Amino acid sequence: KVRVRFAPSPTGGLHLGGVRTVLFNFLFARQHNGEFILRIEDTDQTRFVPGAEEYIVECLRWCGLEPDESPLKGGPYGPYRQSERKPLYRQYAEQLVASGNAYYAFDTPEELEAMREVERARGNHSPQYNHAVRGHMRNSLNMDAAEVRELLDKETPHVIRIKMPTNEELTFTDMIRGDVTFQTNIVDDKVLLKADGMPTYHLAVVVDDYLMKITHAFRGEEWLPSAPVHILLWKYLGWANKMPQWAHLPLILKPDGNGKLSKRDGDRLGFPVYAMNWQDPASGDLTKGFRENGFLPEAFINMLAMLGWNDGSGQEIFTMEELIAKFSISRVHKGGAKFDYDKAKWFNHQWIQRTGNERLAHLFLPVLEAKGVIAEPAYVEKIAGLVKERCQFVNEIWDHGFFFFVRPDKYDLDAVKPKWNADKQAFFGEWLSVLLNQEDFSAAALEEGFKGLAAAKGIKPGELQLPFRIMLCGGKFGPPVFDIAATIGKNETIDRIALALD
Ligand code: GLU
Repeated sequence: KVRVRFAPSPTGGLHLGGVRTVLFNFLFARQHNGEFILRIEDTDQTRFVPGAEEYIVECLRWCGLEPDESPLKGGPYGPYRQSERKPLYRQYAEQLVASGNAYYAFDTPEELEAMREVERARGNHSPQYNHAVRGHMRNSLNMDAAEVRELLDKETPHVIRIKMPTNEELTFTDMIRGDVTFQTNIVDDKVLLKADGMPTYHLAVVVDDYLMKITHAFRGEEWLPSAPVHILLWKYLGWANKMPQWAHLPLILKPDGNGKLSKRDGDRLGFPVYAMNWQDPASGDLTKGFRENGFLPEAFINMLAMLGWNDGSGQEIFTMEELIAKFSISRVHKGGAKFDYDKAKWFNHQWIQRTGNERLAHLFLPVLEAKGVIAEPAYVEKIAGLVKERCQFVNEIWDHGFFFFVRPDKYDLDAVKPKWNADKQAFFGEWLSVLLNQEDFSAAALEEGFKGLAAAKGIKPGELQLPFRIMLCGGKFGPPVFDIAATIGKNETIDRIALALD
């Protein structure tokens, strides 16, 4: 049975790359009738940020990417927060020491710094704790068993490190990249268990993926350099035949393709980079989110799916169901995908057209309320239907349809004036009395009456429709004018004509 996981560290808001990782996991799970697990990787207490986990949960909900097992929902392999699994990890680290694949390291921070000094002096600019230096450090590889026992008995602070093999080549098959080979010498002896007894990411990810029976692990490309450590751990712990299949997802790049899209790019270029607004509790800084910027979750998801994937047919608009049916990890590109905010807005416009008026009205009501306008939901629905074609965002229903809710406070008379004359003035005077007795206030009936009267007066209806429009909405914009009149209704139409003629 397919089991995949999203395993964020609760360190802040979710970058759109993070949400895309969730999405690809989710699609793969649903496609294979598998399970999608949310696991919170909070073993690094120094990076823990209050509120971040709640944010992640809410974000998944907004996106419609609900996990099957999670800290909130529980499940057969819990707990799903690594900090609550702390006692579990030590035995595996000890097992690795016993099998000779890991060792105790007692070095103090000063000793580590001294080692780095020496290495730097030798021209090694990124000194690592590896086969080249481990021989002269204070660790169990260089001590006899009694000495190690004594230090442990005295509870001397120590970490457990993996012993990376020397001069070996490690190869694994990535579902996106194919075979990837590493030289073990370039990887240092990563810490597996910290002095406080907490596992590092490297140990915890392997132990938990094993215990939670994860079959496929999709994660960001930034984790590719750590893959050899994880592959060795799977092997050293005796679980190699249970190792998940890996896929390292490509980066999302800045619009100019120059490097990874960061949250600072969003501030600089004026677009959101996070799924939802995130306010850092320490600094108070706000990073803007797609949700608050007026995106529909369907559009956000559709846009994310297309960042690095397509089905080869040229189709761009996908519902979640279609994505579940058509997604395939082997069609994800190896190279990074450039983020394009205009394209994101295009997706939103497309999705607004595909969204029912009732839901658009529901989303727009708070915008109206903020403007002090009270309106019936059914009326707002109608307006949404009339103007959505022009909207990229739900709040633009106001820009394109404010005159359905409030009377124009100014008229763009210049648009009419040069051609305004006594005949036209007389026409509208008569049109007013026609309207007072008009029973059928449908757009069709109004149009018929209007054109009939124009013909009787010998004026081209085209020359009268623009002034009529300006009387109703204040300017040269909006949907068909008879639709506007029919929608705002008899009293309001009459009042607006009268006011404008005044
Ligand atoms: N905790 C890691 C992160 O925050 C997860 C990486 C993984 O999925 O293995 O990115």
